[in-house]
Amino acid sequence: MKEHIISSLISTIGENRVLTGSVVRERYHHVWLMDQPLNALAVVLPRTTQDVAKTLSICHDLHQPVVMHGGLTNLVGGTQTKAGEVVVSLEKMNAIEEIDPKSRTLTVQAGAILENVQQAAEKAGLLFPLNFGAKGSAQIGGIIATNAGGLRVLRYGMTRQLVVGLEAVLANGTVISSLKKILKDNSAYDLKQLFIGSEGTLGVITRAVLRLVEAPSTRISALAGLNDYDQVVAFLKFMDKGLAGTLSSFELMWPATYKVLTTPPASVSPPLPYDYNYYVLLDSLGSDPKFDPVRFQNLLEEALNQGLIQDAVPAESATDIDRFWTIREDVAPMVAKCQHIQQFDISLPIPLIGEILNQIVKELYRIPEVEKVFTFGHVGDGNIHLVIGKSHQSEALINRINDRVYQPLTAIGGSISAEHGIGVHKKNYLHISRSPEEIQLMKTLKHTLDPHNILNPGKVLDLM
Ligand SMILES: Cc1cc2nc3c(=O)[nH]c(=O)nc-3n(C[C@H](O)[C@H](O)[C@H](O)COP(=O)(O)OP(=O)(O)OC[C@H]3O[C@@H](n4cnc5c(N)ncnc54)[C@H](O)[C@@H]3O)c2cc1C
Repeated sequence: MKEHIISSLISTIGENRVLTGSVVRERYHHVWLMDQPLNALAVVLPRTTQDVAKTLSICHDLHQPVVMHGGLTNLVGGTQTKAGEVVVSLEKMNAIEEIDPKSRTLTVQAGAILENVQQAAEKAGLLFPLNFGAKGSAQIGGIIATNAGGLRVLRYGMTRQLVVGLEAVLANGTVISSLKKILKDNSAYDLKQLFIGSEGTLGVITRAVLRLVEAPSTRISALAGLNDYDQVVAFLKFMDKGLAGTLSSFELMWPATYKVLTTPPASVSPPLPYDYNYYVLLDSLGSDPKFDPVRFQNLLEEALNQGLIQDAVPAESATDIDRFWTIREDVAPMVAKCQHIQQFDISLPIPLIGEILNQIVKELYRIPEVEKVFTFGHVGDGNIHLVIGKSHQSEALINRINDRVYQPLTAIGGSISAEHGIGVHKKNYLHISRSPEEIQLMKTLKHTLDPHNILNPGKVLDLM
């Protein structure tokens, strides 16, 4: 059977596009686990959408499980792979096919890396606003499959809001292509939405038309220190109103997180002293070099006068802006402090974040194996990340920690996943965010689109 699958793939896609044996083991399933060899039957590297269609058609007919690999940066075990599974990676389909400055769209193959897309847009005087720490590795296909969020959701929305057209291949090899450049299209069901955020379980994303916006000509950042959480909420409302639509990021760090990200081995020194209970890093993208900095400075001064913040330091130069944002984007110093790591990306109503996070952190420290709890996140979107360092790793401990973090979310209408998705890590907790009827409809969709359950089996939904 195995030989039959491999020989079918080789004869259809070509020998040099189907990796087997030791070459497979030189690869890995996650960027943080490069020392662990990939376990898989074969890795297929399609060059075209038709290659993907033929690969899936073969796998569908033979009931062969397929795992999609993008940039391998997901944080939910979404690219974990078993020995008998075929990996499909679109790394050779990485072309930026067209930038249309008048429609303000960029047409791209799914294997293109986010940073390359950002740079191509910038060269054309435009901005692809999606931005997050893994931009140097994450691919457009993986990003769309996870409906990634990141640092500018507050202003530009999640990936879903930035995808205008999409091409995907169904489990049986049917190509569903709608690469239109129009923003509005209410011609019955918007089928592309099915694939956005479906984590490779409903189809393989092969190409997309992305929405660009006019590039800003000013960028202003500042770091503020605050003493209580109600001030954070008031400061968010104050700056958002005052900046009249140009507030692009509003990121919160609790003191332990700020400290670890600004002391060696972190590369950045602290712009503000370690005196405050909350640190907000904010960013405004605008278009008026004379007016924007003055307005921003005036607003910060007014916030200080009104007692909304205790302290603030604006970035004085482009180097300063990079320095400030390195604090928030480079999570490596935090990860290095954890013997074993468990991380979360929960969503909560913004006004409740201060109280609920205090409660969760207190509960976590009651677990003897929990050594560190770092909290930070996109507070402007109600999305908080927790990185938990533990003295050892076991299934029972993972579940205990999960329970402490997820338990308060049901009562307040929160979500177990703001932006990272479900993968395998959160599958057993989906019922906290979704009703039984919603989960049943998801299963019906999965069964309809992938009747043999070949696409990323065991991820997102438990079909048993
Ligand atoms: C340092 C760091 C910071 C991060 N910050 C953020 C953040 O701020 N916001 C955020 O949302 N995420 C963040 N992430 C998570 C991660 O970067 C995103 O989930 C990203 O979108 C994954 O893209 P990828 O190409 O690496 O996908 P992968 O990890 O390769 O795959 C992700 C999922 O999509 C599937 N998939 C991959 N390609 C395709 C395809 N072509 N068609 C169908 N399915 C496919 C995979 O099977 C898997 O289930 C961060 C990760 C790291 C390591």
